[in-house]
Amino acid sequence: MPTAFVCDPRFASHTRPDHPENAARLAAVEQHLEQANLTDQLVKLEIAPATDEDVLAVHSPAYLAQLDAMTGRSGLLGLDTYLAPRSYKIARLAAGGVLRAVDAVMCGDADNALAAIRPPGHHATPFNGMGFCLLNNVAVAARYAQRVYGVERVLIVDYDVHHGNGTQDVFYTEPTVLYISTHQWPLYPGTGAVQDTGSGPGAGYTINVPLPPGVGDKGYAGVFEQLVWPAAQRFDPGLVLVSAGFDAHWADPLAHMRLSLAGYDHLTRELLALASALCEGRIVFVLEGGYNLQVLGHAWANVARSLLGIDRVSDPLGSKNGEEPAIDQLVVSLKRLHKLD
Ligand SMILES: [Zn+2]
Repeated sequence: MPTAFVCDPRFASHTRPDHPENAARLAAVEQHLEQANLTDQLVKLEIAPATDEDVLAVHSPAYLAQLDAMTGRSGLLGLDTYLAPRSYKIARLAAGGVLRAVDAVMCGDADNALAAIRPPGHHATPFNGMGFCLLNNVAVAARYAQRVYGVERVLIVDYDVHHGNGTQDVFYTEPTVLYISTHQWPLYPGTGAVQDTGSGPGAGYTINVPLPPGVGDKGYAGVFEQLVWPAAQRFDPGLVLVSAGFDAHWADPLAHMRLSLAGYDHLTRELLALASALCEGRIVFVLEGGYNLQVLGHAWANVARSLLGIDRVSDPLGSKNGEEPAIDQLVVSLKRLHKLD
């Protein structure tokens, strides 16, 4: 069965050239897919904007009205999140793109899917946009999978270097979505502490793995083996969504981790194996951050290869020299906290 792919030239109208989250990012992704002869192997999906019902399942009417009122002009949400005249429409289209990817996977039209969309989503809370994010695409998709396909448990793994505070907020009190985030600590947005594990019925269904700067392929692989795998197995999801950000690469300008492209590829393949073991391979990769265009292009091509079952990784940038900080104690304490022993 094929691998479904979402990308759309309309995303380019949400852009600001002087901002790191701009249209050149997806241009780099498409160029790398093309150069690697991967575009023709992917099944491109037709997409449409997410409906009111879809987005209202995550975001407040007041916030959506605020975005709508800013349509037609440029502006800022907070200090770092810009709005171009058509940004709200484009954000609805991006979220809708992820929903079509979920459709393809849940209906069995595709084995798996990758959604190369923007603006990204994991910082967007129910009540406001921030961190370059307007609508929380992954959260909208998780709710949609639950409502439309009756998926009882959705696993969201977020390997973007930043903590997905918005995704955490949406599902913090719910036991039906397990949110696992690896992120640099300290770093924007400052959330994602170890002890934030969910509340009420959602207690235990948020797993934050805040990592010191400098953790690379070895540390991340250990976290996936010792925390992500057992937590996912215990949760037994019906669908896996990945907040796929590539800003934990050593060459990213916005953070200080040391993953290589090969290290990222290992994580991607672990997630594929996990989905294959737990939910018949149903997995959707959704683009979040990643601000080095060369890294982003190669990383996304590597995700495409993994999903297509091609056993090859492209890593022309190699690894960064130097020792990784030890995180054994952190992993042990997280295993204890989440009773994963
Ligand atoms: Zn990020």
